Amino acid sequence: MVSITINGKKVKVPKDYSILEACKELGINIPTLCHDERLEPHAACRICVVEIVGMEKLPTSCSTKVEEGMEIYTHSQKVREARKEILNLLISNHPLNCLMCDKSGDCKLQKYCYEYNIKEVEYVGEKKNYPIDDSNPFYISDQNKCIDCGKCVRVCSELQCTGAISFSERGFNTHVGVPFEMPLEKSDCVSCGNCVSVCPVGALIPKRKERFMYEETKRVRTTCSYCGVGCQMDLIVKDNKIVEVHPAMGPSNKGLLCVKGKFGYKFVNHPDRLKKPLIKKNGKFVEASWEEAYSLITDKINEIKGKYGTESFAGLTSARCTNEENYLFQKLFRAVIGNNNVDHCARL
Ligand code: SF4
Ligand code: SF4
Ligand code: SF4
Repeated sequence: MVSITINGKKVKVPKDYSILEACKELGINIPTLCHDERLEPHAACRICVVEIVGMEKLPTSCSTKVEEGMEIYTHSQKVREARKEILNLLISNHPLNCLMCDKSGDCKLQKYCYEYNIKEVEYVGEKKNYPIDDSNPFYISDQNKCIDCGKCVRVCSELQCTGAISFSERGFNTHVGVPFEMPLEKSDCVSCGNCVSVCPVGALIPKRKERFMYEETKRVRTTCSYCGVGCQMDLIVKDNKIVEVHPAMGPSNKGLLCVKGKFGYKFVNHPDRLKKPLIKKNGKFVEASWEEAYSLITDKINEIKGKYGTESFAGLTSARCTNEENYLFQKLFRAVIGNNNVDHCARL
């Protein structure tokens, strides 16, 4: 442990911590755009700078380790001015159509501009003019909004391990794309959407099925129902309808999802989804009450069991059910029907 002083308060923190990690543990909020706690510090956006007494330059807190006796200021005037300047430079060539942007309300650049009181554009720079790539079935890449934080590229190669996208060109023209300016549909992209989930601005954005504003929604933490990995996710819900999915930092997925978890939520609110049991009568399925359906099921089970024995049953359950429902289903087979003939569609 080392003793440091942050904003006038003496604290002890582990000696291998960065200043950013120490601040996070102490509940001090430092803005970040390129930082991702699952990756090595990148120090590209520089918005996490802090002031250290005795040091003229403002170091980035993500890449600077704490040292014994360090005296740190996280929100001094010098720090706030530096952050403001970084934001001014970032928005100098950023399209400021926030009213029309799908990321509005969930955009870190917008949030920090508000927090740091950016009232007008100080530098008017050349705007970028890249075509919007909507060739992927699930998400759109609008590189005119990219702030070159690099998170998408690093997440795709270092966490998702696909390496479908990279930075192209240099300087002002730096942007994220597929080698040789190919569209995303021609890349190795597996549409997991992990790049989309980490993009702090509206440069990578899901193709929306519903129009919504983030302030109209609520987050519901749940477990993906598609496979046994059990990824944790937050459903973004508007008027009781899922409109987007964000990965959560669950123990098995650590903020990642696959294409099914990220984009395959339409079935939940699909109009074709059965909400009442159907019983076939005179060759046609007709809606029935649960009581009627259960009594038909128990009658049939008893009849077949009596005629052909317990081994004549097999049960196949669904990945759309929760773990608890699947547990109950195998219990029904083993304890009530009396055999082990149970399986699950995730194994097919
Ligand atoms: S969707 Fe997944 S595979 Fe495709 S570019 Fe993004 S992170 Fe890489
Ligand atoms: S597309 Fe988004 S995540 Fe990728 S570099 Fe640009 S701003 Fe960062
Ligand atoms: S997101 Fe993909 S990997 Fe994760 S539980 Fe769902 S289906 Fe499985």
